[in-house]
Amino acid sequence: MAEANIFPALIAHCKEYGYIFPSSEIYDGLSAVYDYGQNGAQLKKNIRDYWWKSMTQLNENIVGIDAAIFMHPTTWKASGHVDNFSDPMIDNKDSNKRYRVDHLIEGFAEEQLAKGNTQLANDTICEMEKLLAADDFAGLKKLIDDNKIKCSVSGTCNWTEVRQFNLMFSTELGSVAEDANTIYLRPETAQGIFVNFLNVQKTGRMKIPFGIAQTGKAFRNEIVARQFIFRMREFEQMEMQFFVRPGTEDHWYNYWKAERIKWHESLGVPATKLRYHDHIKLAHYAKAAVDIEFEFPFGWKELEGVHSRTDFDLKQHQEFSKKKIQYFDNDLNESGKPYGNYIPFVVETSVGLDRLVLTILSMAYEEQKWNKEDGTEDSRIVLKIPAKIAPYKLAILPLIKKDGLPDIAKKLLDECKQCFHAFYEEKDSIGKRYRRMDAIGTPFCVTIDHQTKEDNTVTIRYRDSMKQERIALADVKKIVEQYTI
Ligand code: ATP
Repeated sequence: MAEANIFPALIAHCKEYGYIFPSSEIYDGLSAVYDYGQNGAQLKKNIRDYWWKSMTQLNENIVGIDAAIFMHPTTWKASGHVDNFSDPMIDNKDSNKRYRVDHLIEGFAEEQLAKGNTQLANDTICEMEKLLAADDFAGLKKLIDDNKIKCSVSGTCNWTEVRQFNLMFSTELGSVAEDANTIYLRPETAQGIFVNFLNVQKTGRMKIPFGIAQTGKAFRNEIVARQFIFRMREFEQMEMQFFVRPGTEDHWYNYWKAERIKWHESLGVPATKLRYHDHIKLAHYAKAAVDIEFEFPFGWKELEGVHSRTDFDLKQHQEFSKKKIQYFDNDLNESGKPYGNYIPFVVETSVGLDRLVLTILSMAYEEQKWNKEDGTEDSRIVLKIPAKIAPYKLAILPLIKKDGLPDIAKKLLDECKQCFHAFYEEKDSIGKRYRRMDAIGTPFCVTIDHQTKEDNTVTIRYRDSMKQERIALADVKKIVEQYTI
């Protein structure tokens, strides 16, 4: 099947096999919001667990926390989100390119200046400033339309309405609607880590360098929200802030850059589908930043960010909270004196869990066709999800519903379910049941048949190769158990 067709087919497959549904679908859904079904939720949890384990269990200097989604509103003033995320924006419907309205109009004015139309250029800027000050979005749109300002990509004037573009969702705390009660749904999990830096450092007696990890929901009012779960308005992040001694940040930045690529590979993502993309334009807080990109069915896109965030965030929180946020480093420097008090520098790794789910699913989805021995064609859709994160590890299938076969199967199920997710099914032909398990990505199926009663063996069938072999019933659990996280 052509690459371009895989994405719509994958989206349909996700819905058909209980992975991902449009949110509140019975009411026609909600744009850029999705629900995970029974298989999707388990896949997502397995990926989250794998990340959590690799961060907090395999690194003795990284601990995990779970901060609240709601945070004191000053948090977002200190972090820069209140000021940096509210610009009027407009989209060109043909190119889908999004512009800050002031940039678009200024660009037009510059062109006019270059052409010698000084009066028009000045009038346009004056008018724009008035409209911006009055938050008059309809007026701004009219200014763009009247001047026939074009998109530099499509060359058309086919614009959406102008919208105040604040990435943060706000809501009110308590019952009185005053400014002071406006709080935000966090647009990133990182700030929950920064504000708890001292709590964790002191109670955990953490010594620099150390990390704090967290997974959780983040919310962004994305204007251009599409490509399924790639860009959502409610999504989940897995972030780790690594606190280091100033001057060592470049070393740790390179360290985490390399570690994170290795981690994705350990999850079964081929190296050929991953690449670094260095940021040229850096965020106000960043010293260096790189995206780890994955080749999604719709092109290379950011999967994870690794950022050298300097001491910006802790410094800001120290200033806004008026509480000292420092670390006393009693290791000795080159002159034999303790490094003393400082605000640590931060290297951050930040990956979207939903984007990882999409990565795994787009890698795993395959439509296969082949000719059978009798010359007829056969086909299947298979999700080759790495066994360690597959929603179900094993399907237990009695060949028929009688002769005591279901009893043997259920006994095996009882043993296995203590250790991993196993699926029991006795309906339909064995071939149909295998196909269903292929479609949800179950790596192993075992069939209990009459021979099982005689010699205590079962047929194990491997999802990827479709190979089948006889193994001892007593070995099933042990074999599959190797693939748990
Ligand atoms: P993008 O450039 O794609 O908008 P970003 O640079 O704003 O992403 P970060 O703020 O660095 O993203 O967030 C870290 C990670 O969180 C991203 O690498 C991505 O995996 C995930 N992420 C960010 N925004 C979204 C979203 N709207 N939906 C799903 N995942 C997201």
